[in-house]
Amino acid sequence: MPDLSELDPRLAEAAAHLPLAEATLDRLRRPRSSLQVSLPVRGDDGQVRSYPGYRVRWDVTRGPGKGGVRFHPSVDRAGVERLALGMTVKTALLDLPYGGAKGGVRIDPKAVSTAEIERVARAWVSGTADVLGPERDIPAPDLYTNERVMAWMVDQWTATVRRHQPAAFTGKPLALGGSHGRATATADGAKHVIDALGTKLDLSGTPPTVAVQGFGNAGAELAEQLFHAGWRVVAVSDSQGGILAREGLDIPRVRRHKDAGRSLDGVICTGSVCDDPGHDLLEPGELLPLDVDLLVPAALGAAITADNAGDVSARVIVEVANGPVTADADAILAARGVTVVPDVLASSGGVTVSYFEWVQNRQGLRWSPEEVDRRLGERLRAAAEETWSRAEDLGAPLRTAASALALERLDVAARARDSLE
Ligand code: NAD
Repeated sequence: MPDLSELDPRLAEAAAHLPLAEATLDRLRRPRSSLQVSLPVRGDDGQVRSYPGYRVRWDVTRGPGKGGVRFHPSVDRAGVERLALGMTVKTALLDLPYGGAKGGVRIDPKAVSTAEIERVARAWVSGTADVLGPERDIPAPDLYTNERVMAWMVDQWTATVRRHQPAAFTGKPLALGGSHGRATATADGAKHVIDALGTKLDLSGTPPTVAVQGFGNAGAELAEQLFHAGWRVVAVSDSQGGILAREGLDIPRVRRHKDAGRSLDGVICTGSVCDDPGHDLLEPGELLPLDVDLLVPAALGAAITADNAGDVSARVIVEVANGPVTADADAILAARGVTVVPDVLASSGGVTVSYFEWVQNRQGLRWSPEEVDRRLGERLRAAAEETWSRAEDLGAPLRTAASALALERLDVAARARDSLE
C-alpha cells in the first residue's frame, strides 16, 4: 500500500501536524475507484482508433466525486489519480459537499477535427457511464475541454440514462442548465483570493506588476481582470511563445488578436498571444524569471521545478494551474522568501461555481450573475482568510495550512461514518 508521502509529500507534511484517525489516512492512500477504458472512435479518415480514457474517484467520504475531464496527449492513469487526490483536498478546503475525482482522454485535440472530438467526448461518457451521475460523480471541463464538450457529454448522458438530468455535468452552456459565471469562475475566484490576501502579501504597489504564463480560459481572463483593476500586466505567454511590454500590455487587445486566430470553432484556441504585434517576444522559459510583484502560472502542471525555482524573481506566486509548482521547487521558493498561494485555494473558483450550477440544477432555479459572484466572493474570501490565519498559527506555508484545513474536514466526515458510538 503506498504511503501518503509517496503520493503527495506536501499533503503528508500537513497530515503530520494533525491528530488524524488512522482510518482517515487509510482512505486517502488509494482511489475509491479508478476506471480505465478504451474508446474506439472512427476518425474523419474512416479508420477506427482507440483512445485510452480514465475516470478516478479518489475519495467520496464528504459527497459524490467532483472534478474535470481533460483531453491531452500527456493524460495517463497516475496523473489522473494525482489530480483526483488534489480535487479531494480542494473540495474539502472549500467545504463543498463533494469528494474528489478527475478524468481524461489521452488524445492530441489539436491533431483531430471538431467532429472527432465530439465522438471522443460521447465515447468517454458511454465508457464511464457506470460510475457517473449527479449523486455519484459529476464531471466538468478542464484542460482542452469546454462548455461545448460538456454539451455533447450531457446530451450523450441523456441518451444513456433516458432522462433529463442536467446536474450530472457542470460547466454546461447556459441554454442546457449552465450557471452564470461558470466560464470565468476560475479567474474570478483567483481574483477574489488576490483581493483578500493583497494587503497581507503586500501586493498593493502603484501599480503592482504581474506576469501570466498560459493565456487560456483561466489565464487570459485573470490577466484581463487584473488589467481592468489597474495592474500592470507586463508579460503573458501561451504554448507558442510569449510577449513582454515593461510599460504594460493592453490585455483586451492581446485577447482580440489571439481570438482572431481561433480555429476549430472554439474547442481549442490555436491563435497565439504572439499574434498581437509590436511587443518584445519571449522564448519559452523567459517569462518565469521576470522581475514582477506577482507571477501567475496558469498553463500546465510542473512549470516551476527545482531547475528553475531559483530564477523566480517575483515575491508572490498564485497557482491558477493545477500543480504548477513541484514539491522540490516549493522548498527552494520558501527558502528564498517567495510566498506561494496554492492551487487548492487560488484555482478553486471553477469547482465552486460548478457546485452552484449543480445546486441550481437540482432546484430548477437560475441565479443572477450578481448572486453567483456574491456567493463566490464570500466563499473564496473566507477560505483565503481561514488559510492565512491557519498558516500563521502553524508557522507554515499557505499550502500546508490549506491542506491541514482540508484534512481536518475529511477526518471529521470519516470519523462520523466510522463511529461505533
Ligand atoms: P486552456 O486550455 O483554456 O488554456 C491553457 C493555456 O496554456 C493555453 O493558452 C495554452 O496555449 C497555454 N500553454 C500550454 N502550454 C504552455 C507552455 N508550455 N507555456 C505557456 N503556456 C502554455 O486551459 P484553462 O482552462 O485555462 O486551464 C489552465 C490551467 O488551469 C490548467 O492547469 C487547469 O487544470 C487549471 N484549472 C482550470 C480550471 C478551469 O475551470 N478552466 C479550473 C481549475 C484549474
